[in-house]
Formats: sequence, C-alpha cells, structure tokens
Amino acid sequence: MTAECHPAVVSLMGGEPLLRPQLAIGLAEILHEIGTQIVMGTGLYFARTPGIPRSIRAAVRAVDLVIVSLDIWHEAEVPRQRALDAISDLRELGCDVAIQLTGRSYEDPYIQDTTQEVRDRFGNDVPLMVSKVSPVGRATGLGLLPDAPIPLRRPEPCSGAYWPVVAFDGAVVACCNQSVVDGERPAELVLGSVESDSWPALVERGLNSTYLDLIRLAGPRFAAKSALGASSDGDYCGTCLALAGRESEERRVSSYVVSPKGRLELALLRTAKAPPPEEGFIPEEYHELLRLGHKPPIAQHTAPEQVPA
Ligand code: SF4
Repeated sequence: MTAECHPAVVSLMGGEPLLRPQLAIGLAEILHEIGTQIVMGTGLYFARTPGIPRSIRAAVRAVDLVIVSLDIWHEAEVPRQRALDAISDLRELGCDVAIQLTGRSYEDPYIQDTTQEVRDRFGNDVPLMVSKVSPVGRATGLGLLPDAPIPLRRPEPCSGAYWPVVAFDGAVVACCNQSVVDGERPAELVLGSVESDSWPALVERGLNSTYLDLIRLAGPRFAAKSALGASSDGDYCGTCLALAGRESEERRVSSYVVSPKGRLELALLRTAKAPPPEEGFIPEEYHELLRLGHKPPIAQHTAPEQVPA
C-alpha cells in the first residue's frame, strides 16, 4: 500500500485486536501516514472492572472508530452495564464509537431491549449495526437457526463482494463471509496473499473479476437463476459458494456474463440506482439505527450580499 494506492478504510476485527494494543497502534500509524482510516472491533474484554487500562487507552485513541460488540454471548463475559460504562469512557476519551448488536434473529427481543437501553443512555449519538447470528462450519448441520427461503423477485446485489479480508493464514479473500475467511475458498473468492501481492494487484483482481462483478451487481441467487436457470430460493451466500466453487458452474456464469442476454441484463442493472451498502445485509427497519450520530454537513456560509431581502 502506498499514499497513491491504498484502501480508504482498514478494519481490525476478531479475535480481539485489543489483546495486541501495541500492534494496533503501530498499524494505525502506518495507515494514517498513507491516508487510510482504521476501524477496530472489540468485545471490551477489559471492561469487567471499571476504567480503561492505559495501554488500551492509547490503542483506542489511535484508531478512527471503535466498534463494540453487544450480544448475549459477550454479556456472559462482560455484563451489559459494564459494557455501556466502557462505551461512556471511550466517548469521554474522544473516541467515535459504534455498536454491532447481534441477536439470535432479527426479531429477537434482545435487539429491541438493548437498542432502547443504548438510546436511553446515549440519545441518538451512537450508531447501531444490527445483525443476527448465523450458523458457520459444523453448526450449519445442526438446523438450530433455519433460514427461511426467500423467493427471488429482484436482483439482490452483494455489497460485501469486494470487501477484501486478510484471513488468519495471510490469504486475502474477496468478502467477509466467515466460511470463506475460515478456509472454504472457491478460487473466484480468493484475491491473493499478503505475503506475495501488493495492494494495487489485489485491487485489480477484485475489480476485474467478472464473477465478483456479477455478484456485486445482481447477487448470487439472481446469478444462479439468470446464468444457470437454477432454483433461486436457496441460502444467499451458500448459493454464491456453490457457484464459485464448481468449475462447470463458474464457466456457465462467465458465459452468461459475455452473452447478449447477460450483457443486456447487467447493463440495465448498472444503470439502476445502487442501494446503500447496508441494504444487502440489514433489514430496512434497522437502517435508521446505522445513521445515529451522523452529523449533517455544515451549511455553506452565505455571503451577506447573497442574503435575500
Ligand atoms: S454472496 Fe458471495 S461474495 Fe457476497 S458475502 Fe456471500 S459469499 Fe461473499
């Protein structure tokens, strides 16, 4: 990465970046020098007792945004009141703070209760990104959290289809899907490796991939239906992994992209107004929570002679 070619934002996510506060500080220095902002996610493990340890203070002040995870699993380790106290402390330190609020489903009463408590305490100043827990790895076979099939009526662009993530082994993958990060990696979703590839090379691969272009524009279920004439009501990311993982299907998707039908459909999608990025992931009723704390742009100064009589 260089000052001329760098990502706008780098996120340090789980495990727990604040277990290595000096590493986070060092990364923030390097990234700020080239003009990249840095975001950090934390489960607030240090908040079981009041106050923020000195080493952690330096790390949270070094980054541009701290995202706190709130859910029943983190609450088992750090009670909610302690977590809210820590958010207060972070804000007093001058940190911008947002919350990732996760429920068992989008209807989980935990989401409503916690949202109310956060707003009672911080007013409209702290944005919340609502998500739901999803089965990953061996848990996908347990059937604990069934995802009802959603009939496809329109394209469902994937806003995560070019969100490069550095995985635990140094591979750079195209999106933050946990299965992909953990190692289930069809070739179409691998951009390269931090050991051997420069940032410009990763950018080029991500932006020039016809497969990712299709997923960004139309989403995997639309792609399956249009390109393969296949059923379109399966699991969203599961459909993507299946398409990207089988060479024959990947070839058919590529043929569709260059066919007259594919070129026309994709051209129409390109001219459509792109939805805000959150729409791919978060139900509409929670979009407002994402925008809490956003400050409106400062009004332009009007010169005295332009003021209407
Ligand atoms: S649809 Fe595909 S590219 Fe998008 S997040 Fe899921 S697995 Fe990743």
